[in-house]
Amino acid sequence: MTSQGPSPVWHPFTQHALEPVTTRVIRTEGAYLIDEHGHSILDAISSWWVITHGHRHPAIVAAIHAAVDRFDQIIFAEYTHEPAEDLARGLIRVAPPGLAHVFYSDSGSTAVEVALKMALGFFRNSGAPRSRIVVMEHGYHGDTIGAMSAGERGVFNAAYSPLLFDVDTIPFPAAGAEQGTLDAFEQICSGREVATLLVEPLILGAGGMKMYPPHLLTELKRIAGRYGTLLIADEVMSGWGRTGTLFACEQAGVSPDILCISKGITGGALPLAATLCSAEIFDAHLSSDRSRTFFHSSSYTANPIACAAALANLNIWQSEPVLERLKSLEHMHRERLAPFRSDPRFLNVRQTGTIAALDLNVSSSGYLSEVGPKLKHFFRQRDLLIRPLGNVIYLMTPYCVTPAELDRAYAAIDEAADVIGMANK
Ligand SMILES: *Cc1c(COP(=O)(O)O)cnc(C)c1O
Repeated sequence: MTSQGPSPVWHPFTQHALEPVTTRVIRTEGAYLIDEHGHSILDAISSWWVITHGHRHPAIVAAIHAAVDRFDQIIFAEYTHEPAEDLARGLIRVAPPGLAHVFYSDSGSTAVEVALKMALGFFRNSGAPRSRIVVMEHGYHGDTIGAMSAGERGVFNAAYSPLLFDVDTIPFPAAGAEQGTLDAFEQICSGREVATLLVEPLILGAGGMKMYPPHLLTELKRIAGRYGTLLIADEVMSGWGRTGTLFACEQAGVSPDILCISKGITGGALPLAATLCSAEIFDAHLSSDRSRTFFHSSSYTANPIACAAALANLNIWQSEPVLERLKSLEHMHRERLAPFRSDPRFLNVRQTGTIAALDLNVSSSGYLSEVGPKLKHFFRQRDLLIRPLGNVIYLMTPYCVTPAELDRAYAAIDEAADVIGMANK
């Protein structure tokens, strides 16, 4: 079909008046998007943090092909199927200890909504209802109403604020101010009964790649435990190796009561999410009284083809040296970030596992600052997919990226600081 007139497609996080979307990607391969003009664009943000090993990993592609011959969507009440059963057992095997049940949905946002509903359902069914939710400043948990309510308030959700429910927010544990975060949490917990603390472990992604050390999470879990407050770990972004371990919680030695995973669960090939919970939470819903049922579903719950892709991903983690790959990627970033640490054009040079971030030292920061779009455009002209969050430049590549490809990305960041950083001082 030839294109006729303007496209009716409305793209996410896109101001169509300023930046119409016209370039078509015709193929993906490894760390690259290949567009209709023949450009190979290095996907340095893993297509919004979903692609882990690389685009179209052969084992995942093969698993999808095989699944398509047997399955399409199957209703997931009354019936179950092998890909969902095998995947659930596989997830529990690799997840932090203590998680015993798996509830499927189809995006990170729904995984979080499910987690919040599980937490409130747990307390209600236990006969001691609690509904207070505590979150961390700068958090991001998705774009549905509940997930937005739990996230940082700002330009992204100002229009919908009348719909958002209240939560309690603890400050981000910035270096040197960690105790303040712990004290704030303790104070909220001791003042009122808190159902759950919902946090992104070790790194707050969309909030600006803000990083905090594992022991903070350990402490938060300890405090939560003292007050009977559940911990929900939102590992939608941090899971599947991004922080250097399969799940970020491992580094804190923490088992959350509820774990949200999505993005990398299928290696990024198909949409799928899972909310894992403890036996206690599942058991609180187990009753001959039907009103205690967990009332949640989405049409495409546990899509068998997506589950098959996720199983293939799990198998890659078992059969390929993924952890070694993460270690070496971590090392590559460390080496390349080093010279930027003493570079006055940048601030807050930082890294957690395979994620590297640095702030361009400019006078106007924040998401709506013009620096972000200028940087994005600059990188795009160099066939690099890098989308800064305001003045925060970060790299989160697929794990197949090579040293030479990273060199190219870092060289462009260095150049951008001169061209765009200087012009916005
Ligand atoms: C991306 C993200 C979500 C939302 O996931 P969607 O699949 O986009 O709905 C939730 N939590 C975190 C930490 C995320 O990074």
